[in-house]
Amino acid sequence: SIFAYAPAPESRAVVDIAPSYGLFIDGEFRPAAEDKVFPTHSPATEERLSEVAHAGAADVDAAVRAARTAFGPWSALPGAERAKYLFRIARLIQERSRELAVLESLDNGKPIRESRDTDLPQAAAHFFYYAGWADKLRYAGFGPDPRPVGVAGQVIPWNFPLLMLAWKVAPALATGNTVVLKPAETTPLSALFFADICRQAGLPRGVVNILTGDGSTGAELVAHPGIDKVAFTGSTEVGRAIARTVAGTHKRLTLELGGKAANIVFDDAPIDQAVEGIVNGIFFNQGHVCCAGSRLLVQESIQEELLDALKRRMETLRVGDPLDKNTDIGAINSAEQLARIRELAAAGEAEGAGRWQPASCELPSQGYWFAPTLFTEVQQSHRIAREEIFGPVLSVLTFRTPEEAVAKANNTPYGLSAGIWTEKGSRILSVADKLRAGVVWANTFNKFDPASPFGGYKESGFGREGGRHGLEAYLNV
Ligand code: NAD
Repeated sequence: SIFAYAPAPESRAVVDIAPSYGLFIDGEFRPAAEDKVFPTHSPATEERLSEVAHAGAADVDAAVRAARTAFGPWSALPGAERAKYLFRIARLIQERSRELAVLESLDNGKPIRESRDTDLPQAAAHFFYYAGWADKLRYAGFGPDPRPVGVAGQVIPWNFPLLMLAWKVAPALATGNTVVLKPAETTPLSALFFADICRQAGLPRGVVNILTGDGSTGAELVAHPGIDKVAFTGSTEVGRAIARTVAGTHKRLTLELGGKAANIVFDDAPIDQAVEGIVNGIFFNQGHVCCAGSRLLVQESIQEELLDALKRRMETLRVGDPLDKNTDIGAINSAEQLARIRELAAAGEAEGAGRWQPASCELPSQGYWFAPTLFTEVQQSHRIAREEIFGPVLSVLTFRTPEEAVAKANNTPYGLSAGIWTEKGSRILSVADKLRAGVVWANTFNKFDPASPFGGYKESGFGREGGRHGLEAYLNV
């Protein structure tokens, strides 16, 4: 077994990974023009899963040209015809969801329970949702005859590879655009399986093109003059570089960047429910979530009670084999990300915060792992209170009044999401109103729906994905 510490070979057998993959351009898989390749690994075992083509400038050009040629006929199709393709893709994602869930867990390291119950159903749901809009665009409130923008260049991160693809591709296709998408270098496989789904669905060639590669491929793509619209999800740093590239061109731009969400627990909150929400907020997907509730703001009077309950709950979290259905926390996606988490955790200790990890947590000896971690006595000036860790690390701060909670929650350059836990409806409304965050959850966390717009304030980016608002980024109104 590849998972010596917790064998689950029967799960892995549902997915057939080829030893190598080409780029998906104009409806066909082909090698990169310069024949460059790179490997992709399972972060849980460091096993090589496959080798994929590394797209260079000539491949970017070929893919953009294919998308341009496909744009005319695709955008001229009646919306109801485009919808049929999106419905077909949605159904194929559902039909192949077991295979795709295992693939995603292998390539990304996330627990199979999450890829099976969140990534896959949500990816299908996005295609179903936007399929429904394709023939109703003139009723979407954007004027009588909204037009597609053209060729979209889309660059996505590794934390929800297939789901981020769905967020990007579904609204673009529904509105009549064509797409060149670059998945992240550590998780290229589900996008390539998606290319196969496009073929299975009979999607006309060139409508979707998939270019695997690293940041240099992404940079080539967003700089290509044949791109009309750039959609990016990833780090704030790369988002800034892309904004500079796109500035002064005709290109439209949406950016979904990092976060440092506050999860605010008031003294009247139902403690057990809040503990579940805190755990889900920071340990879901190993904390590799842009809207992770990475700062716990707890009202001083209940700090002790809440932290005791939280620690007891953390003792029960199981870290290990992503393919084991009982696993709560899988592998960290890459050695680089693990190094970054370790560095920030070390900074937390050096700056005087108290580090706590469950005594029961044993990490596998191979692969990239980090135990669920709690930091208490965190000051707002600490790096772990300010910087995005993007790992299973929670920083605990306290407050006395709702005003102080709001001030601390907003004391960040980010503004993607926040959570509020209280029995008082009036408090939910007044606090939510003052939080500068694109999404505010009340008495829950990390809930997503394709009908709901998602996006940031401040350095978390601009533009909205999801819902009716998600159409606007891909339309000339
Ligand atoms: P990253 O910015 O390093 O990479 C994201 C993607 O951009 C990858 O495909 C990468 O190859 C590509 N890229 C890198 N340099 C590029 C360049 N110069 N030009 C064009 N493309 C380039 O981020 P990551 O490490 O893959 O993901 C983690 C970050 O993404 C976190 O900061 C997280 O908060 C953020 N994120 C945000 C959201 C959101 O919706 N707001 C969702 C997921 C992740």
